[in-house]
Amino acid sequence: MRNGVMMQYFEWNLPDNGKFWKQLKEDAVHLQEIGVTSVWIPPACKASAGIKDTGYGIYDLYDLGEFNQKNTIRTKYGTKNELIEAIDELHKYQISVYFDAVMNHKAGADYTEKFLVKEVDPNNREHPISDAYEIEGWTGFDFKGRGNKYSDFKWHWYHFSGTDYNQANNKTAIYQIQGEGKKWAEGVDGENGNYDYLMFADIDFDNPDVVTEMKKWGQWVAKELKLDGMRLDAIKHINDSYIEHFLDAVRAEKGNEFYAVGEYWKRDINELNAYLSSVKYKVDLFDVPLHYNMYQASEQGESYDMRNLLKDTLVAVHPEVAVTFVDNHDSQWGSSLQSQVKSWFKPLAYALITLMEKGYPCIFYGDYYSMGDKKSPHRLIIDILLAARKKYAYGQQVDYFDHPSTVGFVRMGDELLPGSGLAFLMTNGKKGNKIMNLGTKRKGEVWYEFTGNIHEEVTIDENGNGNFSVEGGNIAVWVKKEDKKN
Ligand code: CA
Repeated sequence: MRNGVMMQYFEWNLPDNGKFWKQLKEDAVHLQEIGVTSVWIPPACKASAGIKDTGYGIYDLYDLGEFNQKNTIRTKYGTKNELIEAIDELHKYQISVYFDAVMNHKAGADYTEKFLVKEVDPNNREHPISDAYEIEGWTGFDFKGRGNKYSDFKWHWYHFSGTDYNQANNKTAIYQIQGEGKKWAEGVDGENGNYDYLMFADIDFDNPDVVTEMKKWGQWVAKELKLDGMRLDAIKHINDSYIEHFLDAVRAEKGNEFYAVGEYWKRDINELNAYLSSVKYKVDLFDVPLHYNMYQASEQGESYDMRNLLKDTLVAVHPEVAVTFVDNHDSQWGSSLQSQVKSWFKPLAYALITLMEKGYPCIFYGDYYSMGDKKSPHRLIIDILLAARKKYAYGQQVDYFDHPSTVGFVRMGDELLPGSGLAFLMTNGKKGNKIMNLGTKRKGEVWYEFTGNIHEEVTIDENGNGNFSVEGGNIAVWVKKEDKKN
């Protein structure tokens, strides 16, 4: 979709009152009004900590808030029926829905089993630090509350590659499960020797029964919830070939337009490139390098060289598969990958991702609404930027990343969209200005500053140049003033 906007519709510290799917449903009309075209919803499956679980401690993939398991029918966010109602409402307003698929692990097993393991060095998981011995691990899943509805697959120790707790002696370690052909996955991140194991009971995608079951689940959930796409959690810990084949299977049912974006949390662009190539570009990736550049810029203040903001980012190298974002539930303050972009820089960051030609921008719920009980101060500016994206952010982009503090670009506009086009500036220094060219056709046009930061107007000269300004530490979005109607 042209100028599409995704919203990550959750943050880490939402209340666990079960009213979230209802809130999402009621918000659908507003989301369409502000220009949101898709929402990434939080993990909707029943998880080990019941209503307190964000959903990443996943227990039963087929329980979307329907069965009495983990002492609750609903999840943190509500019941399955409420979720379906929310999705129907979003579709009414042409908003696509992306499901957060947590496939790396399972948590909160129903019973323990005994099996052979080797302990491995947490910093080098290819290096065993014990001989094989038997432990009692939480790997038995029989889903008594659901029975065989939707799937009769029961999970056992041999469906997993590792776990982290021995019930027999209460010892925590990284236990690599032993057995014929058992090994850590290939095609995962190489950190810590092999980063297959992340947490809980790690699903073994070298087991053909597991692969069949997981593909079946993907097709089921996509159909059951009428999904338009998925956000794939923790894919640097999952075999890349499985991800490719999983998406092939879901798309065989839902069509090739079924969307997918993966969380591959790496700052190094070379690693993202290598991953994309191994999954044949079948999945978009979040632009983690851009997030870290923005985080660094926000921390460094005036001394950051703004010419480097897009350097070695996914959107610069592979814009067609880049989902640009400022922060998410993991980078937010207090979360596992804490690297929250500082408040003063958020308008700059959001302006960049919403107004630039490239990338699929994702707005974070925490930045738009609230984090915990703290209301976000950024909603107004995000509304203004989304309005600018919808009305003006069209046409070829010409960059002016030519000064250490004040950088920007122009969008030349689309002839079919009268009045479109813009001139964007941002600075981490003092008040600045820049002469930017919009073409001689625009000679004599009067432009004004759309966010309301600046009240002067700019007239485009005979060469198509405008002398645009920006206030210190801020953004300026210059657009054509509408002709006065007689
Ligand atoms: Ca794994």
